[in-house]
Amino acid sequence: MNLLNQEEQQQDRNVVRCPQCGKVVNYGRVDRRFCSITCKNLYHNRTRYAPRLQSVDRVLRFIYFNRDVLDKLIKMGVSSIDRSALLHMGYNMNYFTSVERLRGRWLCTCLDIGYELTATRIRNIRYLCGELDAAPDRFVSPPSKLLNEP
Ligand SMILES: [Zn+2]
Repeated sequence: MNLLNQEEQQQDRNVVRCPQCGKVVNYGRVDRRFCSITCKNLYHNRTRYAPRLQSVDRVLRFIYFNRDVLDKLIKMGVSSIDRSALLHMGYNMNYFTSVERLRGRWLCTCLDIGYELTATRIRNIRYLCGELDAAPDRFVSPPSKLLNEP
């Protein structure tokens, strides 16, 4: 096969090209799209999984950044800080890992650090350590009438 024939074949509408590397897919099943399993995996990583990973990475970056700010505050001996000062440090109040309303207070966690959220401050900033381990003991089953409603 000379170069001209190859070009003619590549222009043929019936020729299937691997969407990853562009090579002509000229064997296998009629509906075969990729030249190899490697190209198939690379293609799906790039098109299907990468956007999801980027989205998760973005959220995790905020979470880790917030956690580092809280960690610095604890190490500075700060357990209570004005929210505006926190925002000034680059903290993003939208990112945390749990929030719980308990006896009129908003209790939040950012990974292994807990704090209480008020309208103007966060306070009682602390490492959770044992508190997290104890959490499953506090789990109370929801009333059965709330489960498996038709
Ligand atoms: Zn390929």
